[in-house]
Amino acid sequence: MDVEKNVLKKINFQSMGISNPLLSWFDTNKRALPFRENNKPYNVWISEVMLQQTKVDTVIPYFNEWIKKFPNIKAVADASEESILKSWEGLGYYSRCRNFHRAAKIIVKEYNSIIPDTWDEFRSLPGVGDYTAGAVLSIAFNKNYVAIDGNVKRVMARLTKRRKLSKYNQNYIKSTLNKHIDKNRPGDFNQALMELGACVCLPKKPKCDECPINGICLGYKNGIPTNYPMTSVKKQIPLQIYVGGIIKFEKKFLIQKRDGKMLNGLWEIPMKKITRKSNHIEYFKKYIFNKYGYKIKFKKIISEIEHAYSHFKMKLIVMDFIQIDDIIGVGTSFSWISKSDIDNYAFHKANHKVFKLFNNSNWDV
Ligand code: SF4
Repeated sequence: MDVEKNVLKKINFQSMGISNPLLSWFDTNKRALPFRENNKPYNVWISEVMLQQTKVDTVIPYFNEWIKKFPNIKAVADASEESILKSWEGLGYYSRCRNFHRAAKIIVKEYNSIIPDTWDEFRSLPGVGDYTAGAVLSIAFNKNYVAIDGNVKRVMARLTKRRKLSKYNQNYIKSTLNKHIDKNRPGDFNQALMELGACVCLPKKPKCDECPINGICLGYKNGIPTNYPMTSVKKQIPLQIYVGGIIKFEKKFLIQKRDGKMLNGLWEIPMKKITRKSNHIEYFKKYIFNKYGYKIKFKKIISEIEHAYSHFKMKLIVMDFIQIDDIIGVGTSFSWISKSDIDNYAFHKANHKVFKLFNNSNWDV
């Protein structure tokens, strides 16, 4: 550690000019992205929220549609949660969207619809962490805050030859960036580092020959930049089995609204996790009877679909049922809908895979 520290002391980013080559590279090479067309705080903020855990290509159409539908913070605050979730449908990590909605309401109520530009105020809003606060305050308000995402961590770990992203090393990275952030263009400095990580300093095959800061990169000088940072061994993701049913009555089928930590507020066909695969038809019938009081008759197994979440893989056995009682009813957490109503509800991604099965066959609802 002492040897490494001594080496690092010798690196003077300022004198070697990390900022100038980085920014001139960024000015010439940055991707033309819709959220870079202007630095309006609202646009920057929603794009940063969408980009968390999500690829740029996936975000672009969502961002464009969102700005059309909700052009400002007031439009978000005034919208229903249902409508907000519908616009987020398919983007995943829905708590981001719900937090943004809550934050928008606070801004309208407490800040007269003006997004606050101080660290303490902005950082205290729901869903805003250090990264989002740093990104929005630097890009939209030109304030001197660093924004350290996964790409920046990788670039900095290679640049400073850090094997582990330990707390100590993360603090080191942060203090190094705080020292050397370009005070005139902090937002561009942050974006340039992120862009470098996304387009040049790639996880598996960094394009070091094209890198504007390869002259000061210890990882590159060491010969094997991909050694930094060390990648952790990925945990095995467990498989969970669910049973789900399309329960039909006349020309409608039953859907339910999720209530809980995961995918809260989104709709789905009734589904339930099982621990054993045996007797799952009776298990599902009982679940429906206990939850809704409906007696249902099994028709056939339609198919199985798979879906991967960050912490588990889902296998969903999709079955076809008919409801044999003469009652359907509607509640706030369940509804009977026809195929043409699907667009009025926000469904999660696994559920859309179920609907896809039906697009290829007869819906008869
Ligand atoms: S020289 Fe290579 S490893 Fe170093 S920052 Fe540039 S791309 Fe990354």
